[in-house]
Formats: sequence, C-alpha cells, structure tokens
Amino acid sequence: MKTFFNLVQEVQKPGLCFRCGGCAAFCTAINYGALEINDNGKPVYGDLEKCIECGLCYSICPEINDLDEETKRQAAWSEPMGRVIETTVLRSTQKKVRERASDGGVVTAVLLHLFERNRIDGAIVSRPVGKFQREPYLATTPEEILESAGLFFDTAHRMKRLSDEYMTFSTIGELDPMVKKGLKRVALVGTPCQIRSLRKMQVLNLIPSDAIKICLGLFCSGNYTFGIKEQQYLADIAGISWNDVAKFNLKDKLIITMKSGSQKTISLDDMVSMKRYACHYCSDYSAEFSDISFGGLGAQEGWTTVISRTPLGRAVLADSRSADRIEQIKIEDNPEFASHALKEVRKTSLAKKKNARYKRRSLMGQSVQVKI
Ligand SMILES: Cc1cc2nc3c(=O)[nH]c(=O)nc-3n(C[C@H](O)[C@H](O)[C@H](O)COP(=O)(O)OP(=O)(O)OC[C@H]3O[C@@H](n4cnc5c(N)ncnc54)[C@H](O)[C@@H]3O)c2cc1C
Ligand code: SF4
Ligand code: SF4
Ligand code: SF4
Repeated sequence: MKTFFNLVQEVQKPGLCFRCGGCAAFCTAINYGALEINDNGKPVYGDLEKCIECGLCYSICPEINDLDEETKRQAAWSEPMGRVIETTVLRSTQKKVRERASDGGVVTAVLLHLFERNRIDGAIVSRPVGKFQREPYLATTPEEILESAGLFFDTAHRMKRLSDEYMTFSTIGELDPMVKKGLKRVALVGTPCQIRSLRKMQVLNLIPSDAIKICLGLFCSGNYTFGIKEQQYLADIAGISWNDVAKFNLKDKLIITMKSGSQKTISLDDMVSMKRYACHYCSDYSAEFSDISFGGLGAQEGWTTVISRTPLGRAVLADSRSADRIEQIKIEDNPEFASHALKEVRKTSLAKKKNARYKRRSLMGQSVQVKI
C-alpha cells in the first residue's frame, strides 16, 4: 500500500506537489491526524505514529494517476478541456459585489444566491489578509462571502478549512465546534488542482467530501509568490508603489488597478520566476472537473467568462439569472461573445497542456531533485 511516504518520494521530491492540501485535509478530516500543513503550505507528517497506512492520501493526490479514469468518467470529461455544456459571459447585478470582485463578481453572486435560496450552509473561499496574503476561510454568512470576493495570489487555500471544519466528522464530531454548526451543504471555490483532489475524494465516497455540494473552479495559469523581493521587482517594472494599488487581477497578463483608476499591466513572461515550481507541470487551466468554471479570460473588463460543466452548474446559473443575481452581456453589444470566450479559453488551455507535457518530458529526461 502506497502512503504519504510515497507522495514525498514521487510527488514532493521531484517538485510536483501542487500544495492543494488535499492529502492533509483528508487525513485530518477523518481524524487520522498523521499529516499537517507546515508554514510554507507544504503537507508534512505531523505525527507519523498516527499513520494507519490507509493509502488514501496517495490515491486522492491530483498528481497521482490512480483514479484518473474514474474521476473523468464521473465528470463526463471529454477532450480537449473537459465537459462544456455552455459558455457565457456574465456579471453580478450588484455594484457592491462588482466593486470588490476580480472580474464580474459572478462567483460571489452565485454563492450569495445559493445562501439566499438556502441551498448551502457555508462556502469554502479564500479571504484576503493584507495586500498579498489570503487564508482559507469557511464563510457562513453573506457578509463573509462578500468580504472574500476578489483575488490575491500568495497563499492557495489548501482546503485547510475543509479539514478544520470536518476534522472529526466521522468520529468524535461532538468535540469539534465547527461540526457542531452542522454544515453538510458546502460550496467549494478553488483552483483546478484543489477541485481535482476533492473530486477524487468523491470518487471514493470519502468523508468529508460528501458535504461539498458544488465545486466552483477558477481558471488558473499558476500561483505566484509575492515575497518582498518580488513585490519590489513588480513595482519596478510597472513603475508603481503598492500603496497606490486598489486591486490586481490575472488574465493573460497581470493587471494592476491603481486607486486613481488607471491600470498597469505586466506580462506573465516577466513573472515566470515567481510562479510556484509545480504549476509549470500542471495541465488544467479551466478547472475541468468543476460544476462551473470562472475566469476573466475572454471577457471584457468587469465581466466573467463562465463555463457550465454539469447539469447542476447550469441549473444554478439559470436560477441565479432568473433571480436577477447575475446578468449576461447583451448580445447586441457583442454577438460573438460566447464563441470568442470559449475560443480564448481553449487556446490558453491547450497551451498550458502543451507546456506541461514539454516540462514533464524534460523532467523525466533529467533526474532533478528540487528543494521542497
Ligand atoms: C491563483 C489564481 C490564478 C488565476 N489565474 C487566472 C488566469 O490565468 N486567467 C483567468 O482568466 N482567471 C484566473 N483566475 C480567476 C480570476 O482571478 C477570478 O477569480 C475569476 O475570473 C472569477 O472572478 P469573479 O469576479 O467572478 O469572482 P469573485 O466574485 O471575485 O470571487 C472570487 C472567488 O475566488 C476566491 N479566491 C480568490 N483567491 C483564491 C485562491 N488563491 N484560492 C482559492 N480561491 C480563491 C475568493 O474567495 C472568491 O470567493 C485565477 C484565480 C486564482 C485564485
Ligand atoms: S493515515 Fe492514511 S491518509 Fe493519513 S498519512 Fe497515513 S496513509 Fe495518508
Ligand atoms: S499535490 Fe496536493 S495531494 Fe498531492 S502531495 Fe501535494 S498537497 Fe498533497
Ligand atoms: S497552476 Fe493552478 S491549478 Fe495548477 S497546480 Fe498551480 S495553482 Fe494548482
């Protein structure tokens, strides 16, 4: 039976750990408690003695192929970038949502709608802490969902809250104050790697993944590290002071919006060295295993490109639209909007896959040991 020990050898040592946190979230959630996430976001043995060698952390790792076929089958995945039921361009109808959001605020609007309709009790999101940090967060009120809108890059949310929330779900739940909240209908917002890990748990019917009722995936070209050096580097290229920055966003480039309303852009090529190492080997751009995928790419400023991938996702979007939570771009403004958006996402998606294949081939050609 392969265990976390093998994940260290096969995934972490070659530098391929996406730090999605799925392995540690699961191990903690079902109260084995052998793994933890260290301060750098890396899963490590917290208490090796507690490992019962169940092997499940290994199976659900998105870097391990064991459950790929079954995961694809359950998602009705198809070439070239997963199931696409419908592509559209939307935005929130509420100004207060759009003002905080990365793009059109559709993720936030959909979450607020699900709350209002009493379809979910909580949402795993990622809330800002300072200019460059985020932390995983289980939002249980509309106000908390709104506070979590937008995008910062540094910390992936690692599904930590999933773990915290359901730490003792199957065993000593009464000791866990979070579980006492009785949250059994939760939405997960995450990057493609996080969604994949969760889907693998669902393939195996593992607690606590059964509590995740809908997966909202974000397009993702990579996670970037904004240390002090990197902040200075970006400020120098863009000629800005971070104190004057209102928000920043990632599409096919980094877009920095200043408090004055003006914008600066930085090419992603200038940020390659800041990208998390494992992201270079990742082939999922458009969150292929989510119920709905969201990104700014392909949409005009202030709007979100949205792909429904499952009947559930499509129904939730339709319901949110009929409740006037979200609106679609007017056809007369841009008759080609949907096909344009899909074309852009496909192009970027295929480029990411090609790059990942190339990088993996080079990795196999050389025996690299990266610092982990
Ligand atoms: C690391 C990362 C890379 C991205 N790369 C691209 C890209 O290359 N191209 C592109 O078009 N779009 C990319 N996106 C998605 C884009 O930034 C927007 O999140 C998306 O368009 C939805 O916009 P919105 O205004 O509808 O969402 P909003 O209403 O602003 O909601 C965004 C939601 O995402 C959550 N969130 C924010 N950061 C994280 C994080 N690090 N991990 C998990 N959840 C988070 C927030 O809590 C919030 O619930 C990326 C997002 C992330 C987090
Ligand atoms: S108990 Fe199971 S999930 Fe936890 S580290 Fe060991 S093998 Fe992995
Ligand atoms: S990719 Fe995710 S599941 Fe795999 S070892 Fe890294 S954190 Fe764990
Ligand atoms: S590129 Fe995005 S989806 Fe892929 S490993 Fe990095 S953070 Fe995860």
